[in-house]
Amino acid sequence: MTTPVTAIARSHWLAMPLFSVIGSALLVAGVAGTTSCATSPTGRKQLILLPEDQVASLGATAYADMKKAEKVSTSSVMSGYVNCIAQAILAANRSQVGKGWEVTTFDSDQINAFALPGRKIGIYSGMANFADNASQLAAVMGHEVGHVLARHGNERMSEALAAQSGLGLLAAYQGGGETKQVLLAALGLGYDLGIAKPHSRTQESEADQIGLVMMAKAGFDPGQAVALWQKMATRGNSGPEFLSTHPAPSKRAQALKALQSQAKPHYNQAVAAGRRPQCRKP
Ligand SMILES: [Zn+2]
Repeated sequence: MTTPVTAIARSHWLAMPLFSVIGSALLVAGVAGTTSCATSPTGRKQLILLPEDQVASLGATAYADMKKAEKVSTSSVMSGYVNCIAQAILAANRSQVGKGWEVTTFDSDQINAFALPGRKIGIYSGMANFADNASQLAAVMGHEVGHVLARHGNERMSEALAAQSGLGLLAAYQGGGETKQVLLAALGLGYDLGIAKPHSRTQESEADQIGLVMMAKAGFDPGQAVALWQKMATRGNSGPEFLSTHPAPSKRAQALKALQSQAKPHYNQAVAAGRRPQCRKP
């Protein structure tokens, strides 16, 4: 899922924290002369250059600004539904996800959701309404948690920094323009901008895979993840804006179908253990 471009375009709230993070990156990559090869939860090799605590701090700042710029839902029924799903997934995967997660429901018709480094998640009421049931929304929630767990924001920023020359990048950022867009996308805050497509798709598929297992462990039917993306596919070109930069919904549904044999045993185990989250769609 994605962060709406409008929120980025409306303000310059990223400027200061971004500079401090870039400064750290230059220190890490340039002065210290070190690089770091990490492995994602699915075993994929990643380039991670930035200290995770700084990326998390940037994510927290962006999230706070997001809550000011967008309308936070005042419906306790809607946010209760979203939180019910979030808590079920986080509780069932506690050893993997840790604590300190924050989930906010935004009042918007957008069929969208986003994740930021620092364990921050946003779900739009439009997405909650679009998903036919709690298990479908759990697929979205699991996907967002997956982005955070796999440190996708850090990875995208690290790759953007590695691909550009340090000081030139800073100067270009000050001047705005295309490089600034690349950096915003690298932060995981500009998925809608239509750049870095191949990598974005890799991350999207990986977040789908991580999320599918997590929702199943929480007792949500993983088959509904397939149903959600099949429903998304029927929207065609009139679908949500993020579809152009994300894997095609039909391909996504196919991939999630192929992963059912991996997720089902976790679901069966959860059901046998009595994990049947009662999160009712309003
Ligand atoms: Zn995503």
